[in-house]
Amino acid sequence: MSTLRFQALQTALSRNTVNVSRPSEKISDYYNTNVFTDKAMKHFLSKDAYSAVSKAAKAGEKIDRIVAKQVAEGMKNWAMSKCATHYTHWFQPLTGATAEKHDSFFEPTEDGGSIENFSGNALVQQEPDASSFPSGGIRNTFEARGYTAWDPSSPAFIMEGSNGKTLCIPTIFVSYTGEALDYKAPLLKALHAVESAVVNVCSSFFDKNIKKAYASLGIEQEYFLVDEAMYYARPDLMLTGRTLLGHAPEKGQQLDDHYFGSIPPRVYDFMIDFETEAYKLGIPLKTRHNEVAPGQFECAPNFEEVNLAIDHNQLLMDLMEKVGQRHGLKVLLHEKPFAGINGSGKHNNWSLNTNTGVNLLSPSKTPETNLQFLTIFVNVIKAVHDNADLLRASIASAPNDHRLGANEAPPAIMSIFIGSQMTSVLENILNNKSAAKTKSNTSINVGKIPDILLDNTDRNRTSPFAFTGNKFEYRAVGSSANCANAMIVLNAVIADQLVKFKSEIDALIKKGTKKENAILDTLKTYYKSSKNILFEGNGYSDEWVKEAAKRGLGNIKTTPEALNAYLSKKSKSVFISNNIFNEKELEARYEIMQELYVKKIDIEAKVLAQLATSHVIPAAISYQTRLAKNVANLKAAGMSKSVYQSQKNAIEKISSNINSISQTVNKIIVETEKAHHAGNTHKCALAFCHKVKPLFDVVRKSSDSLEFIIDDEMWQLPKYREMLFIK
Ligand code: ADP
Ligand code: MG
Repeated sequence: MSTLRFQALQTALSRNTVNVSRPSEKISDYYNTNVFTDKAMKHFLSKDAYSAVSKAAKAGEKIDRIVAKQVAEGMKNWAMSKCATHYTHWFQPLTGATAEKHDSFFEPTEDGGSIENFSGNALVQQEPDASSFPSGGIRNTFEARGYTAWDPSSPAFIMEGSNGKTLCIPTIFVSYTGEALDYKAPLLKALHAVESAVVNVCSSFFDKNIKKAYASLGIEQEYFLVDEAMYYARPDLMLTGRTLLGHAPEKGQQLDDHYFGSIPPRVYDFMIDFETEAYKLGIPLKTRHNEVAPGQFECAPNFEEVNLAIDHNQLLMDLMEKVGQRHGLKVLLHEKPFAGINGSGKHNNWSLNTNTGVNLLSPSKTPETNLQFLTIFVNVIKAVHDNADLLRASIASAPNDHRLGANEAPPAIMSIFIGSQMTSVLENILNNKSAAKTKSNTSINVGKIPDILLDNTDRNRTSPFAFTGNKFEYRAVGSSANCANAMIVLNAVIADQLVKFKSEIDALIKKGTKKENAILDTLKTYYKSSKNILFEGNGYSDEWVKEAAKRGLGNIKTTPEALNAYLSKKSKSVFISNNIFNEKELEARYEIMQELYVKKIDIEAKVLAQLATSHVIPAAISYQTRLAKNVANLKAAGMSKSVYQSQKNAIEKISSNINSISQTVNKIIVETEKAHHAGNTHKCALAFCHKVKPLFDVVRKSSDSLEFIIDDEMWQLPKYREMLFIK
């Protein structure tokens, strides 16, 4: 009998490459073809309708019903010209995935015929049956209604299936009483808050022409690929997104031969395929490469306005999974699919920009004289310092807990890297030194290779929040996360800080302090009080953990505890005073996140118990029986003890591992039951975190040592080496 594992291996090895058809050799020929772009709008909308949508997109102005009807008509005509037959509101509920519910344009008429229709109401607002989405108690079950409302700032697009196309309209999702039930609604509020705070500060103190600002985001997406057949032979991967068991491969990433190595052909085809789909949807993918771990890869788009960048990332994750199917590949977006091997993150490159074309985090030639840059820069540092616990909470999730502080991942300690140049600039300001000359760029001069300007901001790859020359890179965000959580918090705390800064400076000026002095003195105070969050060394080292503790920086390792920061007095004030969440929404969100944690660990507990009982133990017993029979045979044949001693030892080792697994599985069942009754959701989450989850490691240790001993042919689950070294 051949096991599922060997069948899977066979399938994986016999896969052929898949032909990828691209609409054209030139990306620019098909970029954005499935998006209701400005150009498409001009073509399909009346002048009035076009100008109303533009204003709604750019200035958040409301669209009235009559115009909405016209927009819907134009949008439908565009979609039908692309052969779409259905439409859906596309939203981001707190389940983590995107949600859709398709309706047909088709409508029967009284005379027995039919027409294609799309009403203004259907565009602007819908009422999906919301009772199956998490609400954290905002919506009682009898009041199941929630509604989705059009977000004109993110363009409508067409999702292509192999047998049909659907017009998708990005929307927010709120309860009937107006509370947010999704990621997008609070994100838009946080972005609005930061944009107006930036405009207020910059136009009052630096440049009257600054009338608009926007936050930009470039998201680097890391992921693993495994063969689909292998994936389906691993119930843990299938049901939890990660391997709960698995002996470390003989070769892992120690040779560093994967990163920037050549991309395996099958993977390369897959990349080209999903990139093609992404371009049609206007996702500006720019970079692709292998990552450090075997089987790990990365892609990154050009940066965009935050709301759009997040929609695009959500779409991209969806696309990658769909396109993977065509190639027999499963995309693992989990933060830590394989123990002992690097995890995956989603670096959030973030900056603030103005309508005058200035990147506010880009220093000019002499940063010392660039007060506007310094203002934003130091305010970011202060905001992150003062709200480090909240930022930590914004990236907290059950899967990210495995990554933070593990192999090649930023620690759970929030710190900021700014580089030696910016450090000396800030130190000089603090010590009232006049602008000291910082070392200018050196250049490499090797034979005929043209001069390459060295980036004068040094790089640090181990910081969770690093300044990278013209933006901050928030690296601690998990690979499967909706970045909205991180971006809501980051933009909210910056907005809050800039509002405070503005009123401090106003007060000083009112008292007669010169503007420049007021600003510099305030920045100096900020820098001094926030300095202890700056760290330039190796964030992955044990020394840093000790040093951070000495500095009093938080190091909260687990999600249930980290999430508490959402409900602190300080955080509530940030969210409520900037109109991002009300108290009820915050409490609901907290509840949902704790609940999600419980559900994830609960599922892992069940899957692990099942796997250990029905896969691992039977395999161990089979092999043990074979050994026992062999020992009996050897004994019967009159062999001396020394001949079968090592097999006897193996039998004992197998027994002790089997016992340890079955005892621990029993404990898991008991502790899971207790955890469910531990009290409120937070207590429940704590119990799962501290009583249930640690038992997983015990099972794993025994199982992995059995995997090492047992006859390879008897082992049912695809092994790490088989899953990781994709060809
Ligand atoms: P890395 O060295 O970490 O790979 P890159 O320089 O390749 O970083 O850039 C990573 C991401 O940062 C890209 O998505 C890029 O578009 C984005 N990025 C560059 N400038 C900005 C900016 N001003 N605001 C936001 N993101 C930016
Ligand atoms: Mg990066």
